[in-house]
Amino acid sequence: MTASNRISAFKEELCDLCGLCFHLCPVLHLPLEESKKEIERLIKRQNSKHVLSRCNTCFSCNLYCPQKANPYQLILENWNALYKKRGAPPLYRFVCPTEEPNIWQLLNVFLSDKEREWIYNWMNYSPKPEDNILVIGNYTHLFPFILGGSKLLDYFKPVDLIDQWEGGAYLYQGGYLDIVQKIAEKCKIDFDKWDIKNITHTLDAVQYIFSEVHPKEMGVKHNRNFINFNEWLLNSLKSTKIEIKNPLNISVTIHDNCYSKTLNGIYWEPPRKILELCGCEIKEMKHIKKDSLCCGFGAGASWVRNISIPFDIISEGYKKFKEAEDTGAKALISYCSGCLYLLWATKELIGSNIDLYHIIEVVRMAIGEQLQYPEIHIKRAWDIIAIITYQLIISMLQNNFYIKRIGFDENRSSYKPKRYILLKLIRTSFRSQFIKSIFRKLFLLQMKILKTR
Ligand code: SF4
Ligand code: SF4
Repeated sequence: MTASNRISAFKEELCDLCGLCFHLCPVLHLPLEESKKEIERLIKRQNSKHVLSRCNTCFSCNLYCPQKANPYQLILENWNALYKKRGAPPLYRFVCPTEEPNIWQLLNVFLSDKEREWIYNWMNYSPKPEDNILVIGNYTHLFPFILGGSKLLDYFKPVDLIDQWEGGAYLYQGGYLDIVQKIAEKCKIDFDKWDIKNITHTLDAVQYIFSEVHPKEMGVKHNRNFINFNEWLLNSLKSTKIEIKNPLNISVTIHDNCYSKTLNGIYWEPPRKILELCGCEIKEMKHIKKDSLCCGFGAGASWVRNISIPFDIISEGYKKFKEAEDTGAKALISYCSGCLYLLWATKELIGSNIDLYHIIEVVRMAIGEQLQYPEIHIKRAWDIIAIITYQLIISMLQNNFYIKRIGFDENRSSYKPKRYILLKLIRTSFRSQFIKSIFRKLFLLQMKILKTR
């Protein structure tokens, strides 16, 4: 047990200090003897020499541990303790919907009228007990066009509450465990108010968080049926409730997100089967499933300097693109929209030519729906790059911080857009191909200079 009623998933009594976890880690590859010392340091809360400053929070070590001791959650506990000491880096306000400014608030400046309409309806719907709801979630919210207007939504009532923080999934990966517990409690209040039986979510990560982490680690039981959207898609395609009209006949490679490594890999096969049903030929990357590399997001969890965070993230994403390109596939497919927004930013910054889709977009094309691909994604990628650049600039004037609020205030002040003149200037400058190309070169140069891993 920890200070609150959280229950740590790390099983110290099972760990025999064999060191295999960080020795086999696809990022650290520590020599075995050093790995043994590092796990001891983490258990004793002594100064970590490697993991806390280089881990990509990818979950793989849990699958490498022969004792099933959950070394990953030991890392999270250490980060949680570090957060209590030093706070979160100022740039992290970016992904906190109750801090100002944050990515959702800033993105409001760039949404099209159609996107605004979808989001407005999703955010203002009050679920009723008989509804079959689909929780859109914080990251799919950044790409409302992935689902907006699709007949896939005819089967659900979409609901979008960004102050549910994806159930705390991305904070959990950063080790903000005490905050995740507060989020779990807030989600329970929402769910109990809705009194709804079935809740489908677009992210594996969130289904896992609601059904496993909240009850087993945070002490918060929801008593709801959490449905995985990919499972629903697969079953609907198999039963021909959703009919393939336009098999795609393209080769694809698949990015397995970090959360897909939970629950013994139950999340790996449905996306592969969906893609095959859509007519795709799958060409696998070197690191897949239990060894899959992170999209880059996880590099932010082991931050050392605020200024380096975006560069560390993109440099990890760069490795993913290299592996994807090496397969010779035409397209890289992500089944996580959290990964998708960083992968699109990475693709634009490094100039990768491989196509990049969310799996939902692949299904939509196969059932005969038209997408505005790639224009709409390129636009959104540069919206996001402008937002990250803006937030990095203002974070240089800010201090580390602690997350105080979980829910919006009454006026949703941290969601409403303001004027953001500097942000608009940055985004307008990216309309010039010349400025984009200079920005790319400078970014990649900084990436080399500031690389902390
Ligand atoms: S979570 Fe991933 S990157 Fe971090 S130590 Fe475990 S295997 Fe390595
Ligand atoms: S957590 Fe598992 S793999 Fe790591 S040292 Fe302990 S027993 Fe070995």
